[in-house]
Parts: sequence; structure tokens; C-alpha cells
Amino acid sequence: MPVEVGYDEVFLEHEHPDGAYDLPLRETEVAEPHPDRPERVTVIERMLRTHLDEHATWPAVEPVSRERIERVHDPDYLDSVWELAASGGGRIEATTGVAPVPPEAVRYAAGAAVGAAERALETDADTVPYALVRPSGHHAQPARADGYCLVNNVAVAAEHVLATGRAERVAVVDWDVHPGNGTQECFYDRDDVLFVSLHNDFGSWGPSHPQTSRLDERGEGDGEGYTVNVPLPPGTGNDGYASAFDRVVEPAVEAFDPDLLLVSAGQDGSQMDPNGNNVLTMEGFREMGERVRELAGGNLALVQEGGYNVSHLAYCTLGAIEGAVGVESGVRDRYDLLEECNPASETWIDDAVAAHEAFWPVG
Ligand SMILES: [Zn+2]
Repeated sequence: MPVEVGYDEVFLEHEHPDGAYDLPLRETEVAEPHPDRPERVTVIERMLRTHLDEHATWPAVEPVSRERIERVHDPDYLDSVWELAASGGGRIEATTGVAPVPPEAVRYAAGAAVGAAERALETDADTVPYALVRPSGHHAQPARADGYCLVNNVAVAAEHVLATGRAERVAVVDWDVHPGNGTQECFYDRDDVLFVSLHNDFGSWGPSHPQTSRLDERGEGDGEGYTVNVPLPPGTGNDGYASAFDRVVEPAVEAFDPDLLLVSAGQDGSQMDPNGNNVLTMEGFREMGERVRELAGGNLALVQEGGYNVSHLAYCTLGAIEGAVGVESGVRDRYDLLEECNPASETWIDDAVAAHEAFWPVG
């Protein structure tokens, strides 16, 4: 079962403004590059072309129309994003902005998600579409940018297949370590989209992000119960995510019985990620890929969200794709360091103590 990778080099053009955050630096801190770097998608592309080439196709990405984006987003908000880009670019909120070029990457990213959703429903379970995009989308709300996200790619894709009659029910499973507050907001009063988010308990993080994504945010009106937030503690690793799938994700999605399962696939729950607190490995993402493949019953599409340790992101994403398409590349996670402590490490430390104890108070 091959993966259809929706990728375009236009995703490298998107840039946030200089400086990482619009937050005062502490006296010991220096301004670091923005975590959402173009290399994030480059390294995934290389990993897939190198190690999954015989199981991958690379169809052209079509940019989405303004009309389709407006099914989710407020026209005035969209105007403000494009006007900001045309006037030299800049910051929209603390961590999110646009470069001084037309944000075509945004239209292509949403277009890749739309194409993936369409293909998942068209094909007879013999391919898995994967939109390898940036900028990400799952924090973007109908009239608000947030968390490096401008347009909610998954939400635009879900609305597209619902509005065009391709599907009656869509489930979105979001395993990014941050809550999919934007996707939640888009469908909060709806019962045709089941949204399930596994995330660390970051809570509300400012004016751009009023949602808490805690247990009491479950939807409203017709949508009551259709927002399923699953906050997880720091350090939740492969076994914890497996348990969350066993106990929450799978029973909820099976009961909802969607026509299409979209995955907000952010691999920033990895153990190397600077923006998350969990310790997932490539193997953990492979297992989640397998689980969503079985859960989707053939109608599955993945859309890239976060992941900020550039190198480990590629391994974890390869694992997720391997699981989703049911193949193994044989690549091993070079960063799989923390899942269990190697008992031999104590012997090595004993040797180091012996080597230095005459000079330093080691022990
Ligand atoms: Zn994230």
C-alpha cells in the first residue's frame, strides 16, 4: 500500500518574522531561530525519498481556492493575513507571522490537505495520502492565527469533503503534543466532525489561544460530546499513547463510524522535541500509524502538523508513515535513547569515576 506524498517546494518559502517570540527575553537568554524552520519538511522529504521510495508516489499539489478556505475562515481575517504579507510581512501574534511575500505556501498546504482527503475517499484503500506541509494548521481558528498556524489545513479538508457530499461524518485524530484548539473551535457545535486530541496540558497560552483543551471542553449544542480532549502528563511515552488509543481514541472513533479519518500528525511528542514534554520514539509513532490505518478502514489521510527537532522529526514521521501504509523500511531510530536505561551505562560511569576520582570529588 503506497503513500501518496503531497509536497511542494513552496512550503520552504513560508517564514515567520525574525526573532523567535514576541516575549521578553530573560537576562540569560538569547533570541533563537524560529522553531518552525523550512528544514522540517526538507528532512522528512529526504527520509521518505531515501527509505520509502518504492512505496511512495508524489502527486502534484493543487493550491486551494479562497472559496474553500472561507468555508472555515473569516474573510476579513484572511484579508488581513494577505495584506500583511503584501505590506512587508510581520508578526500576527506572539509566535506566528508571515514573510514579505504572498503566502502561497498557505494555499498549497490547505490544498494538499484537501487533495489528501479527496484521495482517501476516492481510492479503494490501496494508498494512504499524506500532506507533507508547512505551515501547520491545527491551532488556526476561524478568525485567529495561533501557534505558527495561519489556515487550518485539516479543517479546510474536512469541510470540503462534507460540503461536497463526499462524506457525511469525518473524524479527526490529533496526536500532536499540543492541543488542536483551532480544529476544536472550527467544529465545536457540530456533530458531523468528531475531534479527538491527545496533548500535554498546556492550557490557554494567551490571547491567540483562549481554549484550554481540558476535559471540560467537550463541544456545545449539537456538538456536545464531539470534542474529545485527552490531556496527558509530561513523559507519556509509547505505552501511554497506546493506552490512550486503547481506552479512548479507538472506542470513540469506532462508535462514531466516520466515512473519513484525518490525522493531525504532529510528531512533536518525540523524546527529542524542544517544544513538547513527551518521550515518544519512532516505534511509538509507527504503532499509532498502524492503529489509525486499522481504525480508518481504508479511508485515511495524514496531514503534517508540528515537530521541531528537525532530525528526529524525520525518523518519527517515517515511523508514522510506515505504520499507516503497513511497510517497514528497516531504518532504526538513532535517537531512541530514553525508552529504557541501558544497564551497561552504570559500568561505564563506574569506569569514569575511577578515572577521575583522584582529581575531582566524583563518586
Ligand atoms: Zn505541536
